[in-house]
Amino acid sequence: MTEYEKLAELLFGDVDKTPAYYEEKYPERQLKEGARVTRFAPSPTGFLHIGGLFAAMIARLTARTTDGVFFLRIEDTDKKREVAGGVKGIIDGLNDFGITFDEGMTGEDSESGDYGPYRQSARREIYRCYAKELVKKGLAYPCFCTAEDLDALRARQEEAGVTKGYYGEYACCRDLTYEQIEENIKKGKPYVLRFRAQPTESGRITFDDMIKGKIEMEANYQDAVLLKTDGIPTYHFAHAVDDHLMHTTHVVRGDEWIASVPLHIALFKACGFRVPKYAHIAPIMKEEDGGKRKLSKRKDPEAAVTYYTEEGYPAESVNEYLMTLANSNFEDWRRANPDSALSAFPFNLKKMGASGALFDLKKLTDVSKNVIARMTAQEVYERASAWAEQYNPQLYKLLTRTPEFSTSIFAIDRGGKKPRKDLAKWNEVREFTAYFFDETYIPAVTLPENITPAAAAEILEKYISVYHPAADKDEWFALIKSICAPLGYAENVKEYKAAPDQFRGHVGDVSSVIRGAVTSRLMTPDLFAIMDLLGEDRVLARLNDTLARLKGVRA
Ligand code: GLU
Repeated sequence: MTEYEKLAELLFGDVDKTPAYYEEKYPERQLKEGARVTRFAPSPTGFLHIGGLFAAMIARLTARTTDGVFFLRIEDTDKKREVAGGVKGIIDGLNDFGITFDEGMTGEDSESGDYGPYRQSARREIYRCYAKELVKKGLAYPCFCTAEDLDALRARQEEAGVTKGYYGEYACCRDLTYEQIEENIKKGKPYVLRFRAQPTESGRITFDDMIKGKIEMEANYQDAVLLKTDGIPTYHFAHAVDDHLMHTTHVVRGDEWIASVPLHIALFKACGFRVPKYAHIAPIMKEEDGGKRKLSKRKDPEAAVTYYTEEGYPAESVNEYLMTLANSNFEDWRRANPDSALSAFPFNLKKMGASGALFDLKKLTDVSKNVIARMTAQEVYERASAWAEQYNPQLYKLLTRTPEFSTSIFAIDRGGKKPRKDLAKWNEVREFTAYFFDETYIPAVTLPENITPAAAAEILEKYISVYHPAADKDEWFALIKSICAPLGYAENVKEYKAAPDQFRGHVGDVSSVIRGAVTSRLMTPDLFAIMDLLGEDRVLARLNDTLARLKGVRA
C-alpha cells in the first residue's frame, strides 16, 4: 500500500464503494449522435430570478433541439441558502413558464430518472468515494488550518503583495506526513479536503465556450477546498462529480462561473472525467443612470419571475421576449412565422450574445400585446379569468358571471389582419372591461375637445330620439349619419374638409360624443360592437344619464 492509499483509508475507511461501482450504475446514456444533455442546477432558495428562467430556457432548448435530455438537479450543499419549500417554489415557478424536465427533482422529496439522486445532499457517499480516489492518487489532502490560520495567511500575503489563497509555499498542510495527519485526526482536529493543484507547463489554459468563444486563462494553481469540514462538497467538486455521473454534455450556466473554469477543468482531469462543453450566459442587465447593471433581486421587482405571473403577463410573452434576448434572429423569424409555436424556432446556442442583454419592459409589453392579439377571444377569457381567480377576485366574479358576455368583449376587433393590441397583461383587463359592467363603470362626461357641452347635449337628444338597436354596423352607422345634417355636421370627413366653414364638425365628432356618453371614454374598440353588447336598455340609460349631466341637472 502506498502512503496515499494508506491516507485514503485513514480518511475514508468507511467508504465501501469504488468509482467503478458508480460508473457501472450510471452508464453512458443511449442517445442519438449529437444529442445534448443539459441541466438546470439551482439552489433551493425558492426564489427564481428572471436570469435563472432564462438560463433554464436556454439549457432546455439546447437539449430539446437535439433530442437530448434536460434534468433538474438541486444544489443544496449550502444549507444557509436553503428555504423550506424552496424546491417546489422553483419547480412551480419554472412550470408557470412551461419549463419542464425529462428527469430530476419533481418535488420537495421526489424525483424521477436513472441518474439520481438529483439532490446534492443525498449524494454525500458518492462525493466521498471520488474524494477518496483523489487522495489515493495523491491529488487531494486534508488541511487542518483553522479560520484564524487562514486569516493570518491572508494578512501575510497582503503584506507581501502576492496573490491570496492556498497554494504553493503557502499551502502548509500540503506536505504533512501520514503520521502528522494521523495525530491530528486522533486529536479530533477538524479538516477540509483540498485539491493538490498540478501546475501545467505553460501556466495557461484555453477552452472554447459555446457562447463566449475561445477563452484563455491562467491555469488553476490553488489548492481549492473539495470537501468542507462536515464532508459536504463545495460547488466545484460537486459540479465535476455530478455532471460526470449524470453525463451532462453541455454545462449551461451564468457567466459568474467563468472565473472557476480553470479549477473545474483541472478537477475533471484529475478525476479522469471527460470535460464537458461550457456555455456561459451573460446576465440580464438593466439600464440605470446611463449605465448598465445586473438586474438585482434586492432592487428590482422585475428580477423575480413571480413578478410576471402576478402582473399577469402570459408565460408565452415572457418566453417570447426572452427569446428575443437569446437569439437576435428571433424577431425576423417571428415576423415571417407569426402563427408558429415558439418551439418551432430553430434556436442556436452559438447565436447567443456574448455580453449582457438589456432587459426592456417596454419591449416585453409590445411582444406581449402581439402574443395576446394572436389569442382567440375564448383563450383570452379563460386566461384572464384564471389570472383573476388568483389575483383579482372581484374581476373574476364579474368575468365568470356571464362567460359568453365576457368572451364577446374580448372578441371585439379580434382576428383579421389588423387585430387591436390593447392588452399586454391580465391586470389590465379590469380597466379594459370596466365600462361593460355596471359594477365597475364610472360615468363621467367625456367630450372631444372641439365640442361644447351644449352641442353635445343637442347631439345626444337627437340621437336618443331616433336610437334603436341596429341589426348590423351599416345600419348603426346610417343612423348616426342621419342626424348629422339636421344638426349641422358633415356626414363624412371628406365633405367636411372641402368646406369646413359650413359645418359645426363631422360625423366623427358626432360618434365621439355618443362613444363618450356610452363608455365615458374617447378611445375604445368598435363602438357598434360595444353598444350591441351593452344592449338597448343600458345604452339608453347611459345616453340619458350623460344628457342629464350635460344639462347640469345631475352635474
Ligand atoms: N448552483 C449553481 C448556481 O445556482 C449552479 C451553477 C451551474 O449551473 O452549474 O449558481
